[in-house]
Order: sequence, then C-alpha cells, then structure tokens
Amino acid sequence: MEKRGLVQQTITRRIFGLPERAGCKNVINLHGSVNRNYCPHCKREFTIEEIRNAKHVPLCPDCGTVIRPEVVLFGEQVDNAVMTRAAKEIEKAEVLLVLGTKLNSNLCSQLLKYYTGNKLILVTLYPHFSDKMADYVINRRVDETLKELLAE
Ligand SMILES: [Zn+2]
Repeated sequence: MEKRGLVQQTITRRIFGLPERAGCKNVINLHGSVNRNYCPHCKREFTIEEIRNAKHVPLCPDCGTVIRPEVVLFGEQVDNAVMTRAAKEIEKAEVLLVLGTKLNSNLCSQLLKYYTGNKLILVTLYPHFSDKMADYVINRRVDETLKELLAE
C-alpha cells in the first residue's frame, strides 16, 4: 500500500519488523525492533544475525556486558522522541487506518488524541465497546481486508 502511495506512514507497536519485511520504508516502531541490538554499556550496535549466531547469552565482545534488543521491555517507557514523531504523523493524517487493536488501549488512546480528521477506519476481528471511537468499523480479519483493499 505504501508503494502505491495509499499509505504514507506506518506506526506499529510490534517488534518483529513485519512492515519493513513487507517493503514499507516509513515505519515508526513504537516499541523498537528486535532487528536492532546494542550494548547498554558501550553502545556498540549488533545485527540480528550476530545475536542469532550467539551460542549462549550474547555478550559484548568489547566490554562483556549482556547485549539487549532495542525494544521497550515490560515496565519501560516508549521513547518520548518516538511518541512525538508518531503524534506529529497522526496529526497531519487525513485518513487513519487502525489495524487489529482496541482503540482504548493505553498507547492507542494516547496517540488518537492527535487525530483531528473524521476518517478513522478501524479494522479488527472482534467487536469491542471502544470501537465507537472510530468513524468506520470493519469487524473482519485484517489480512483479508487489506488484501481486498489492494485488489480494489
Ligand atoms: Zn559493550
């Protein structure tokens, strides 16, 4: 959809880099990505391959500190600069397509405050009381709905 100019920005809280693997270039990863790893002590960066190839807990070869993914772990806060970027993108959006989430979830409701348009389209399989915050609701599988949208 991005390649066809239908989507300008993808904002996700998933950490496995699926939008990038699908070819998206403009992606904000709210919770980071498992594809980026770093040493919290000396800040050296490591690729996912270097982590995958580790036989034990991956340690920084420079200082011996445990390497961690650049991911927001339980109890940690989303980076303020990342939230600001996401809020600015949402603020300028004409159409907001929200996929597979509840609109009243903490992160989602924080960001929705910045949307000023009247075309909030929610695609989610299971109906939820917070769906009423959307202008349009499609209670179907996200993958099937997007496939049909692209075929149109
Ligand atoms: Zn280090």
